Amino acid sequence: MVQFVHCIKSGHFFRILYKGSGLARSSEGAGAKLIANRQFSNIPSPSLWVVNNMASGQQPSSKSSFHPQTYHNFLVLDFEATCDEQLINPQEIIEFPILKLHGRTLEIESIFHTYVQPVVHPKLTPFCTKLTGIEQSMVEGKPTLQEVLQMVDDWMREKGLLDPKVNSIFVTCGDWDLKTMLPGQCQYLGLPVPDYFKKWINLKKAYSFAMGNYPKNGLPFMIKGLNLQHIGKLHSGIDDCKNIANIMKELARRGFTFKQTGSNL
Ligand code: AMP
Ligand code: MG
Ligand code: MG
Repeated sequence: MVQFVHCIKSGHFFRILYKGSGLARSSEGAGAKLIANRQFSNIPSPSLWVVNNMASGQQPSSKSSFHPQTYHNFLVLDFEATCDEQLINPQEIIEFPILKLHGRTLEIESIFHTYVQPVVHPKLTPFCTKLTGIEQSMVEGKPTLQEVLQMVDDWMREKGLLDPKVNSIFVTCGDWDLKTMLPGQCQYLGLPVPDYFKKWINLKKAYSFAMGNYPKNGLPFMIKGLNLQHIGKLHSGIDDCKNIANIMKELARRGFTFKQTGSNL
């Protein structure tokens, strides 16, 4: 039996506490389970929230759908870029992965993945290879960013993601990928940024709304906070995407509804 305990204002958000056979363990106090923080303007009535998120207290199987999300698809994206111990200017994208997740089950339905040839600083530094696991041979002869953006557009069309009736949103760990990296490199190259890259969900903000603490060091913090297993290599773009997807799935299983957090529009 899940019981609504109370709702306290915390910054711009309300923190909702439940008692009983909930889903999330909370550091907020004995017996109380933190389910989600909701934006003040967006807070559902407590009874509806319990019904929506925790009805019967059953744990959904991985095949079942979680409570309704507002998007048909989530597009998980995590760039890797040229780097060194000192700042590289301009940074260039060298790995471009996207996981298409079903908006209700959060299962991976399709993967777009390619390494990208950097052109301004074509030689990767040993620092960059060590950090990302990306070796020189993995980017040499690969498409340039301009070519990759066309490939992404083709993939989006093929998957029905350009249909105006289909509501999708990118999900990144932080704001850097779509607020800084892609617009910066497109500006440098004189390329337009497609509109679908101009709104996104920052998983760190989503996690902090859901769990009540901000994941300063990103993926490892969130993985530990949710008792998940880390997959693959940290700073491999495709592995980072798989870990982001697992974190999303766990937050959705606990009843969290993902909402847009960032925009360049
Ligand atoms: P991430 O998605 O966290 O793997 O990082 C994306 C990109 O940010 C990397 O490909 C690097 O270009 C840069 N980056 C991340 N961590 C570091 C670091 N510790 N030092 C320098 N650059 C970094
Ligand atoms: Mg990243
Ligand atoms: Mg990464």
